[in-house]
Amino acid sequence: MDHSFSPEQDQMRDHLRALLREVCSPEYAAKCDEDARPPREAYDALAKNGWFGLIVPPEYGGTGGTAIDLAILLEECGYAFEELAMWVFRTLTYGGYAVMRDGTPEQKQSILPRVAKGEIAVCFGLSEPQSGSDAASLTTRAAERHGDNSGYTINGQKVFTSGMDCSELCLLVARTAKGEKKHEGITTFLVDTKTPGIDIKKIKTLGQRAIGTTQVFYNDVQVPKSAVLGKVGQGWRAVDAYIWYERLCLSAARTGAATAAFEYALNYAKTRKQFGQPIGNFQAISHKLADMKMLLDISRTMVYRFAWLMDQGKATRHDAAVVKLHTGETYKTVSDMGVQILGGYGYCMEYPMQRFFRDSRLATIGAGTSEIQRNIIARGLGL
Ligand SMILES: Cc1cc2nc3c(=O)[nH]c(=O)nc-3n(C[C@H](O)[C@H](O)[C@H](O)COP(=O)(O)OP(=O)(O)OC[C@H]3O[C@@H](n4cnc5c(N)ncnc54)[C@H](O)[C@@H]3O)c2cc1C
Repeated sequence: MDHSFSPEQDQMRDHLRALLREVCSPEYAAKCDEDARPPREAYDALAKNGWFGLIVPPEYGGTGGTAIDLAILLEECGYAFEELAMWVFRTLTYGGYAVMRDGTPEQKQSILPRVAKGEIAVCFGLSEPQSGSDAASLTTRAAERHGDNSGYTINGQKVFTSGMDCSELCLLVARTAKGEKKHEGITTFLVDTKTPGIDIKKIKTLGQRAIGTTQVFYNDVQVPKSAVLGKVGQGWRAVDAYIWYERLCLSAARTGAATAAFEYALNYAKTRKQFGQPIGNFQAISHKLADMKMLLDISRTMVYRFAWLMDQGKATRHDAAVVKLHTGETYKTVSDMGVQILGGYGYCMEYPMQRFFRDSRLATIGAGTSEIQRNIIARGLGL
């Protein structure tokens, strides 16, 4: 069993880290969070340096990298700024992976080169006010139009479509027919976010403020037939595959962010003095840091094992749930412990730990809550 990265992967990580240090410093991340503005400069710098082409096949302008390469990219982005990683992963998952998997030759030709150049951002519209964990019970309707103006007319409401206001395309999940089962009759569309009839409203949130999330109202939104991604009525199977991919991306990004929180707390414990000595000398603090390190080591091992399984075509729904559950809970725990280690300064907006604490709270909720991951794991155990 070989757990080492290739020399190219080590080099890739070094390049990324150096670039992100330059274009996405902790001060820059803090300012984007404070001003609630997307890290556009950092996103563009990644684009300029070719990182959006990482998973796109060479014939569409990319380098055709592996899931392990992708995990390295997202871990490093997450280490620099989780919101940057979120923006990158959505584009690569919903604009890259989804189109590579299910796009027509025309869709691949028109979308993948733009993804590879980082010219567009793509978001994901699945959740609705009445369908969160029970996502397949969605009711947003796409009715087919026939005749000269053929295509689909979309009506409904989505909630929590993150980055809708700073994306060019949304991978929208809608119902095109009423099936016997709720998973039937679902179709995915790549919708231009500027299409008339789309109304976007920002939602105020505890964390993830730089890009944030939105409510989206679809009122008689007309899209052409060419907006359909994959087979009409069979979208749920595709959504399931995208969500697996998403779980790898989120887990890698959050492990990077949790590592940054851990390193900040560790450094603080070594330099902050009370009772005439660094607080890291107190076992109550040093054991917290030891636990944080252990949790993070497990997260990283799981992320790269899962990426490896994906590359081998051996990953299962169970593996995806395990890695999502552990890395999400770890990020939350590590950030919470980080606040405790910083004492009163952990609670102050001037210090970064509060952002990790706020951002990490989503890790056990978004993209399938920890309860839902446990349900999946338990089902896999025959329970
Ligand atoms: C900041 C943010 C960003 C997001 N970004 C996106 C995005 O870009 N695109 C998108 O489509 N969605 C997005 N989401 C939505 C997210 O995936 C949902 O919030 C999540 O799936 C939970 O759905 P819900 O909020 O409706 O909670 P509910 O489903 O109402 O759940 C409420 C509680 O009940 C529990 N629960 C529900 N069912 C069960 C069950 N069967 N067994 C045990 N417990 C259960 C849940 O675990 C939870 O604790 C985002 C959410 C947030 C907050």
